[in-house]
Amino acid sequence: MEIIAATNNKHKLEEIKEILSEIDYEVYSLKDVGINIEIKETGNTFEENALIKAREICKLTGQVSIADDSGLEVEMLDGRPGVYSARYAGVDDENKDKANNMKLLEELKDVSEDKRNARFCSVIAIIFPNGQELTARGYIKGKIGYEEKGDNGFGYDPIFIIDGLDKTMAEIGMEEKNKISHRANALKKMKDILAKL
Ligand code: IMP
Repeated sequence: MEIIAATNNKHKLEEIKEILSEIDYEVYSLKDVGINIEIKETGNTFEENALIKAREICKLTGQVSIADDSGLEVEMLDGRPGVYSARYAGVDDENKDKANNMKLLEELKDVSEDKRNARFCSVIAIIFPNGQELTARGYIKGKIGYEEKGDNGFGYDPIFIIDGLDKTMAEIGMEEKNKISHRANALKKMKDILAKL
């Protein structure tokens, strides 16, 4: 089965490719199918945004489409940055990850370790050309550190200390991340849903 992923993020693409290859889905990127658009994420939830992206790509290609919408939820901040994770610090260029991490570290600088709980959330949406829509949600729990650590991954990975591992998400390799990440957990749920169809 061929499926088009509504993302240009190469990290997300690799994770989606690896997990869906287990059930013989061949994943193509927007670049692979010659689409170059930026889809506005106007929803208020991860589900709404994932569905908006997947619907748009399904409409454009006529093919089964998959999208992820994800973000970081910090308990102390009532779930922020949440759906606004990508542009939390208001920066929209290659410096945005650094700016987001610095903003969060600054906001939590006086917060004790036991109050730094956070989780990454990912919602995967799949749209079929016949209109069928599926969503699945996954999490990984952790704590926000006091400084950036590690060079792998992207986004908030360097400040997210994984529960039970004592390492940040940027200190583990991609292979390990792909087994335990929020996206991996959502994709595994989606894989089970697809397998039962
Ligand atoms: P999206 O592309 O709209 O889903 O935005 C997701 C944003 O959440 C990214 O720009 C990152 O800031 C953050 N994020 C989502 N998944 C991850 C992850 O696996 N590691 C680090 N940051 C992530």
